[in-house]
Amino acid sequence: MFEEQIQMVDLHGQYLRFKEEIDEAMQAVIDGCAFINGPQVKTFAGHLAGYLQVPYVIPCGNGTDALQIALMALELQPGDEVILPAFTYIAAAEVVALLGLTPVLVDVDPRTFNIDPRKIEAAVSGRTKAIVAVHLFGQSCDMEPIMALADAYHLYVVEDNAQSIGADYTFSDGRVRKAGTIGHIGTTSFFPSKPLACYGDGGALMTSDEVLATRIRMIANHGQECKYHHKRIGCNSRLDTLQAAVLDVKLKHLEEFTEVRRQVASRYDEALSSCDSLIIPVRSTFSTHVYHQYTVQVKDGYRNALQHLLKEQGIPSMIYYPLPVHHQEAYRHISRISGCLDISARLCESVLSLPIHTEMSSEQQQYITDTLTKLK
Ligand SMILES: *Cc1c(COP(=O)(O)O)cnc(C)c1O
Repeated sequence: MFEEQIQMVDLHGQYLRFKEEIDEAMQAVIDGCAFINGPQVKTFAGHLAGYLQVPYVIPCGNGTDALQIALMALELQPGDEVILPAFTYIAAAEVVALLGLTPVLVDVDPRTFNIDPRKIEAAVSGRTKAIVAVHLFGQSCDMEPIMALADAYHLYVVEDNAQSIGADYTFSDGRVRKAGTIGHIGTTSFFPSKPLACYGDGGALMTSDEVLATRIRMIANHGQECKYHHKRIGCNSRLDTLQAAVLDVKLKHLEEFTEVRRQVASRYDEALSSCDSLIIPVRSTFSTHVYHQYTVQVKDGYRNALQHLLKEQGIPSMIYYPLPVHHQEAYRHISRISGCLDISARLCESVLSLPIHTEMSSEQQQYITDTLTKLK
């Protein structure tokens, strides 16, 4: 039965659709044997820079490395504070802590799941040096007020764009920029389930600043200025040539992938908007949505029971994320909390992400929405 095959993400189905192109691209890498820093890496970085309309794209090993390299490139010092959302994936808090910086947690906007720009100013102290704006689930944070605050307090802004590559942010004067290219540095991940994904680990940084671009490139390559001459402490973080080849194929289809997920989201919106027990995700006025996740909020403490019932009907769902950063054992005592983080805590108890991907059939989706409306 088809419902037994419903998956959160159908990587194999998508591969089969582009098998010829992908196999050919991978075979070319194997034939060339330039597995590290092969020509495909540069080609892909150039294509991604063109797509994002940003001068510099520097590929690296994964999205977490990208965040770490970004903070290293900004030359933050131990004890400096970095503002982060309390409701997010752990990577940003993790690299902040690893570098001896202090995570300062700010609550999110329940409509967008992203950091609430109105709550950032109160979190700024004399030690604050940067804000990490995480673009969660497929929409950009509201970057205009964030950049204005950063300007006023001389802070850096890093955009963690692992989940929202391709989203367009519109400024109040009508200018449109791709998410991830507005702050000082943008980072992304090409983890297999992300909107732009490879067949293993991969990541990248983007910037419009030439000095930062040079520094980032150096840090990602052992801090080398030239071979065996190490100007700064760096790390080893590279995008494999095989992964770059896969990504270059997938980048060509990124807009089409996004469009398909938007259609799936629209069908969910239509079917679920009348469900009293669910809050469907809001589409921001200032950002397009690429629907990395379709995340509903389940009212009245019913989330875990609903997830269980869906599972019994063969429908997978995921809880992104079950704990806010300040409730994580490793981060509880090292974070500084700014204001009340109740919305983050509440979201962790009510969010549920439904299957959404490029291969979803309308029959599968009908089955999901029928089941959900019956269970509500
Ligand atoms: C996936 C993800 C990362 C980390 O990316 P990796 O490539 O797995 O290291 C960082 N931030 C966010 C928001 C993510 O979703």
